[in-house]
Amino acid sequence: MQVPFDNTYVRLPERFYARQSPTPVAKPGLIRVNDDLADLLNIDSHWLRSEEGIATIAGNHLPQGAEPIAAVYAGHQFGSWNPQLGDGRAILLGEVIGKDNRRYDIQLKGSGQTPYSRMGDGRAPLGPVLREYIVSEAMHALGIATSRALAAVTTGESVYREETLPGAVIARIASSHIRIGTVQFFASREDHEALRLLVDHTLARHYPGSYESSMSDGDKALALLDQVMQAQAKLVASWQMVGFIHGVMNTDNMLLSGETIDYGPCAFMDTYNPETVFSSIDHGGRYAFRNQPGIAHWNVACLAQALVPVISDDEETGVEAAKAALDKFPPYFLEANIAGLRAKLGLVTEHEGDEQLAKDFLDLLETHQLDFTLSFRRLSEMAGVEPAENVSKIAGFPTAFDDWFDRWQKRCGKDDERCGEEQERCGEEQESCGEEQNSPDRQAAMLATNPAMIPRNHLIEEAIREATDSNSFDLFHSLVDALATPYSLDGKSERFLKRPKPEEVVRQTFCGT
Ligand code: AMP
Ligand code: MG
Repeated sequence: MQVPFDNTYVRLPERFYARQSPTPVAKPGLIRVNDDLADLLNIDSHWLRSEEGIATIAGNHLPQGAEPIAAVYAGHQFGSWNPQLGDGRAILLGEVIGKDNRRYDIQLKGSGQTPYSRMGDGRAPLGPVLREYIVSEAMHALGIATSRALAAVTTGESVYREETLPGAVIARIASSHIRIGTVQFFASREDHEALRLLVDHTLARHYPGSYESSMSDGDKALALLDQVMQAQAKLVASWQMVGFIHGVMNTDNMLLSGETIDYGPCAFMDTYNPETVFSSIDHGGRYAFRNQPGIAHWNVACLAQALVPVISDDEETGVEAAKAALDKFPPYFLEANIAGLRAKLGLVTEHEGDEQLAKDFLDLLETHQLDFTLSFRRLSEMAGVEPAENVSKIAGFPTAFDDWFDRWQKRCGKDDERCGEEQERCGEEQESCGEEQNSPDRQAAMLATNPAMIPRNHLIEEAIREATDSNSFDLFHSLVDALATPYSLDGKSERFLKRPKPEEVVRQTFCGT
């Protein structure tokens, strides 16, 4: 078998999906294969590059063992309930077990119509496919839980949106594609048997250590809810740490596995402004950067509500238990958030006031309209040098930062005192500790936490333009290559690291539909 399928979702009852093969395309052409990921999935990347491999990604060839389906789900889109969604332009070929012993879905996106396409053509334009490839792989390299890109191909066909665009297909990999909206679909139909099956399937697949098979259905549902809340809290905190704005945090775009999915109108912030919104359809700023944690809470509340009939036969009891469980979401998020901020500031111990210190730095960035990524990177670089007066001057920050630097260095000093005490207790040398307020260790840790490079929107747009207008994928490939090592400056062209010039700033992104 070229793809070592081991399918489980298709073993669930037929009302979970529709059997649907991809629709062949006119003339498949390879854009890129992700060799490392293919290797992890036990797929030969030479085969993926072969005519048959390319035909597989394009949907023109079904590899042995594939059991193609389109999954059904529902969801809240921008807060409005939609009872009937589903994979309208995506087809799950099947699952494989990776070299890491984890299970992965292989899904084609842009592979033709399904029973859930509604008015859509089931296709994807080249631009959104390239964006998803670049950003999802960048997120992975940043250490953020995410769906990934195994390969992308052009179709040799046009897709018609506001303009005529080249078509493409991306092979997307995720631990599963089970969404909050999948649970909502069965809840809204009062299909309690399906809900129980889904809880069991999801727990076994994603959170095997969190439950015992002897537990009651209600306790299993609560265990699942708690695990998803923790995963989502951690996920959204990790987005906030790199300035990632998802753009369409609808409940159908939130996976129970806690991986980022659906790279539609997403974008990374350049200048720090918590109000930032990119999506052209997000008029009210519902999914603005600052709102992401609150929206995640809202989304897991939808999950909790959908699980109520499994939590208890008595609705009132179920609702009370779900509410009590949901109260844990804010502390889960705050804990992940402050841990992330401490790491960004190079702090290893916990002190009261750390959150304020981080907030004040962010407020300064906002006031002075500084670049989020570059500012934390510069701060990291400063951590390795001797403290000096007028640090701002050396590091190129406005002098308004001087007081803050002073506070930060004093706070770093507290970490170093602790470090000194601990080493004394251990009888070790005190080389990097003691009076010094900056240390090479801190610098190294901060440089490994605060990326030098993020997938900046103006570069993505340029790569998409070159590919769409001139059939040139050079910039696309260079970006994907450089973003594989976001914490290192090695081999990165200067322009990949810089913030956009005023005339280059991209203010709006569009859905991939
Ligand atoms: P999204 O905004 O990408 O989360 O998609 C929302 C819903 O619309 C999902 O059910 C998609 O499968 C469906 N959809 C989006 N684009 C298309 C398309 N071009 N053809 C068919 N269905 C689509
Ligand atoms: Mg979606």
